[in-house]
Amino acid sequence: MIPVFDGHNDTLLDLYLDRSGTGRSFLKRSDVGHIDLPRAVEGGFGGGFFAVFPPSGQSLDAVDKQRTDTDRGYEVPLAPPINQVEALQHTMAITASLFRLEKASQGRVKVVRTAEELEACLMSGTIAIVLHFEGAEAIGTDLSALEVFYRAGLRSLGIVWSRPNAFGTGVPFSFPASPDIGPGLTEAGRELIKTCNGLGIMIDLSHLNERGFWDVAELSNAPLVATHSNAHALCPTPRNLTDEQLAAIKDSRGMVGLNFAVGFLREDGQRNPDVPLEVLVKHIDYLIARVGIDHVGLGSDFDGAMIPQVIGDVSGLQRLIEALRTHGYDEISLQKIAHLNWLGVLKRTWKT
Ligand SMILES: [Zn+2]
Repeated sequence: MIPVFDGHNDTLLDLYLDRSGTGRSFLKRSDVGHIDLPRAVEGGFGGGFFAVFPPSGQSLDAVDKQRTDTDRGYEVPLAPPINQVEALQHTMAITASLFRLEKASQGRVKVVRTAEELEACLMSGTIAIVLHFEGAEAIGTDLSALEVFYRAGLRSLGIVWSRPNAFGTGVPFSFPASPDIGPGLTEAGRELIKTCNGLGIMIDLSHLNERGFWDVAELSNAPLVATHSNAHALCPTPRNLTDEQLAAIKDSRGMVGLNFAVGFLREDGQRNPDVPLEVLVKHIDYLIARVGIDHVGLGSDFDGAMIPQVIGDVSGLQRLIEALRTHGYDEISLQKIAHLNWLGVLKRTWKT
């Protein structure tokens, strides 16, 4: 089994909010949610970026209920901003839960801070977790908190989620739509990019609007990375990347992680889990044609999105690898897509 290192999941949030209402634990097998340790082992999940996402007072479901149908798809308003104090409280609680989980796993799970540690975990079968913040809301504009979180293990930061914050603006979940919606980075956002570059924190561009994307492309000296986004040409949601954005990612020797969210895969953008593996393979083919075989990986969005029935949960990950193999990808290409490319871009980005 080829271990998969995955660009994005929301498992920590799912456990924190107990969205299933079952009190499920990461260490015990459950039949709800997408990731827990036993199912991860079964699916050859070698680890991934685990997002810390501060939920807003207004639940995500409430935002979703404001969705209105249009002739060609639907419109969803941008989620409202969340204040820093509230975001910091959630971030502390969720990050602490990750460290408790690591301890309780008795060596089966490790929060990795260097490429060397990640590589060792992939070799030994220890699940490697990269601490990632999805949106910089918890970090004040003086950026002191960023240095402290870096010391605690933060190695990847999404500037925004799909809402505005002090640093930039995200894209709404409307369909079809261009990602060119709203203003670029703020002055604080520009400082954030420079500070991330200095510390060696990977900057994640998924959810950022197009003007923000080009601001980062101009300012950052690190590879451009979108951990969980697909091809806009195949599914025109603003969460996906245009051909111009993909060209910039290629030029920077960056990375795109294939998002399994059905709304970002399907041509019609509908939330219908009946999506054959061929659709995921088609996005992979397209992304590789645009950015090259060394710059595409997976970014499932497990526990954060509706995913194709045929995968189901993390235990079904190898079905996608198998579909890619049947489609003609050789073993080294499969290893690149599964984990080597993520390892490569982190080596090029991290200072440790
Ligand atoms: Zn996301």
